[in-house]
Amino acid sequence: MKVVKNEGKKETKRTEKMKENGISETRDKSETKGKEPLFEIDPRSVYKCVQCGTCRSVCPVFDVVGWESANTRGRMLIIKSMLEGRPPSEDVLSSLASCTTCGICAVKCPAGANPPEVVEAARAQLVKCGVTTEAQDKLKAAITTSGNSFGETRNRLHWLSDTERSKLPEKSDYVYFVGCFDSYRYPEFAKKTFEVLQRFGVTLLPDEQCCASPLLRTGFRDDAEKIMEHNLEQIRKVGAHTVITGCAGCYTTLKNNYPGELRVISLPEFLAEHLEELNLKRLDLTVTYHDPCHLGRHNKVYDPPREVIQAICTLKEMKNIKENSRCCGGGGGVRIGYPDISLKLAKKRIEDVPEGVDYIVTSCPLCVRNLRDAAEDIEVIDIVELVAMALE
Ligand code: SF4
Ligand code: SF4
Repeated sequence: MKVVKNEGKKETKRTEKMKENGISETRDKSETKGKEPLFEIDPRSVYKCVQCGTCRSVCPVFDVVGWESANTRGRMLIIKSMLEGRPPSEDVLSSLASCTTCGICAVKCPAGANPPEVVEAARAQLVKCGVTTEAQDKLKAAITTSGNSFGETRNRLHWLSDTERSKLPEKSDYVYFVGCFDSYRYPEFAKKTFEVLQRFGVTLLPDEQCCASPLLRTGFRDDAEKIMEHNLEQIRKVGAHTVITGCAGCYTTLKNNYPGELRVISLPEFLAEHLEELNLKRLDLTVTYHDPCHLGRHNKVYDPPREVIQAICTLKEMKNIKENSRCCGGGGGVRIGYPDISLKLAKKRIEDVPEGVDYIVTSCPLCVRNLRDAAEDIEVIDIVELVAMALE
């Protein structure tokens, strides 16, 4: 395997050019000098791609950007060339960093390739070589210094009063993992979710930190491991065997990246399982539902949110649903790194909304955020808000 070295004059020029493009090199070159960076991508997962181009028609980023390097096949070709010794460059970075990891290409690929998995592995490889975008560096710094993706210094449970916090059960079989978004951007979702879950004896972690999803999706695997270990310790301390979360990013990470000892349930699954006990009233509303990629396509949680919605009001489906659902554009670090692309994707998703609905309901705070930015005439709400209305 060819060694990827970031040294020499040519390298300095490249570094300058990369900086101009918002791409930085974070690693001290002495760290990698003399060592061969391991290319940890399984070549079989890359060579599975037969370059048929089926995915070109579904990649939402390609749809709005239009460059070959911004579609799945282009990304797979670039990763293949990295395997064959191509050094990291700004082209490589922007191609790989602009994938939302939505997963629709994996669903459609006739060869059984899993491009988002390969993209994540390639991003980790770039991080190892010290090649990252400024947006990725900022995100990593925020998480590793503050324990949350926003760099917030407030207590993560600031949405509870001191008395409420002091009364939290120290031990429980069930714990609610709030996530950074609901903790700091949508504390009203956290409050409503916890109000429902408390009825079932669910508690909170005394010191939850970011689930590590943003670190894993952008390739910072070593940093992710440390924070995951911290959360695991917290969960073990509480003695919980089941973790419930209302964030699709936290859900897929806890379920697929944490050790298998945990039982992880998404909020819609929990709500659907407890519909009878919740005794929800019917509302005279018609809503549509947006499948978050990391809840739907990545984990096949399609029916529970629909069961909850239909227990409350009328559901009118969007144009593309379930495994064909269009990405909101927020995931994979794209909202932070490429806000314009992210917004365009969200606007495209809004085009799928049917006529005559009162709300777009979804089950992920990142989807709420991104779709709210794009939706002009319709309100976007989280499923817990609909449930709260039906409990009033
Ligand atoms: S990832 Fe799959 S669908 Fe896309 S070009 Fe490769 S083989 Fe074809
Ligand atoms: S995961 Fe989504 S954004 Fe990434 S290459 Fe596949 S279709 Fe495109």
